[in-house]
Amino acid sequence: MDLDLDAATIAFRDEARDWLRSNLPDRRLASFDTAEGFAEHREWEARLADARWSVVSWPSEFGGRDASLLEWVLFEEEYYAAGAPLRVNQNGIFMLAPTLFSHGTEEQQRRILPKMARSEEVWAQAWSEPEAGSDIAALRSTATRTEGGWLLNGQKTWSSRAAFADHAFGLFRSDPASTRHKGLTYFMADLRADGVTVRPIPQLDGEPGFAEIFFDDVFVSDVDVIGAVGEGWKVAMTTANNERGLSLRSPGRFLAAADRLVDEWSRHGRPREFADRVADAWIGARAYQLYTFGTVTRLAEGGQLGPESSVNKLFWSHLDVALHETALDLLGPESEVDDWSGGWLFSLAGPIYGGTDQIQRTTVAERLLGLPRGDR
Ligand SMILES: Cc1cc2nc3c(=O)[nH]c(=O)nc-3n(C[C@H](O)[C@H](O)[C@H](O)COP(=O)(O)OP(=O)(O)OC[C@H]3O[C@@H](n4cnc5c(N)ncnc54)[C@H](O)[C@@H]3O)c2cc1C
Repeated sequence: MDLDLDAATIAFRDEARDWLRSNLPDRRLASFDTAEGFAEHREWEARLADARWSVVSWPSEFGGRDASLLEWVLFEEEYYAAGAPLRVNQNGIFMLAPTLFSHGTEEQQRRILPKMARSEEVWAQAWSEPEAGSDIAALRSTATRTEGGWLLNGQKTWSSRAAFADHAFGLFRSDPASTRHKGLTYFMADLRADGVTVRPIPQLDGEPGFAEIFFDDVFVSDVDVIGAVGEGWKVAMTTANNERGLSLRSPGRFLAAADRLVDEWSRHGRPREFADRVADAWIGARAYQLYTFGTVTRLAEGGQLGPESSVNKLFWSHLDVALHETALDLLGPESEVDDWSGGWLFSLAGPIYGGTDQIQRTTVAERLLGLPRGDR
């Protein structure tokens, strides 16, 4: 791509920057792992939506601006540089929405996306189960055919923000005779429906950042199946590739953190012993930005996200850990201020959520490098 932005793109970026400067909340919102913070984040996302900044790359009929993916990357850079709040509906807008654009019906898109854009409906990912984390194909939750739809049964766990979310999306085994990746169907479910129990899981800080979700004969209509019955694995790969390969963690997040790190290093007299690590973090964030420009160019030309998403995920998750460890070593106890230490704790989860390092490396080995499949 041409790294010199054209006038229209620069105008888009400047408009986003100006709006964010004038409209940012005047104080830090409470954590979205609390009921109060969840409500505050919903309100903020409705404000973003009113100004059509919540989902810029979506079609305008669903609340977007028909912006290109490149413009979305630039918007995200502005968003993080401004220090705007993390998105409470990130699993909806960055993971379920791309899945609906690829596999959903028009009716599903019209029904779900506008409310998602305003965070009137917040979505949780209900994939992991107690015996199926890395190996999702081992899942035990079932979907049984009934009139007009399906009855869901089973247990999901580690569902981020499900303690306060409205809906969830996940895979269930719809063909009892099937095994592994076959016979799975991708469903959307209302977390307030009869038969759903959401049990919050407190994190180390005591707040319920996750929940377990129990499904006990929960009726889900046929209109809430995404893609074909029995083809859920294929649909799930679209979600996973967006989680790992593009939308969940855009470069803006890391560029903003790297810039903050450089500022801290300067403020502390530019100590030589940290120069290489600070430079590495900044270069890593910039490299991820340039790589992402390549990804969006490829997608604009009709390409698809594929197994290279695993390389991407390994890169950003380790960049985040290294960047935060550098900040902690540089700042010492001061890192408690401005939440560097909270950011570090969360960075440690990066090599786990969305598929662990080991799983990503196996994907890279088998699907990109063509190495022989291991025994499983
Ligand atoms: C912050 C955070 C947020 C999360 N949010 C969600 C969410 O919203 N929704 C959701 O559904 N889940 C969520 N998860 C769960 C996450 O997807 C799982 O933790 C992850 O997939 C690993 O599964 P597991 O915890 O069951 O570990 P396991 O699968 O039991 O793995 C344990 C260890 O064994 C290794 N291992 C397992 N199998 C292999 C193998 N074949 N080869 C080599 N090594 C292997 C793993 O890499 C890991 O180190 C979240 C997790 C975290 C930490």
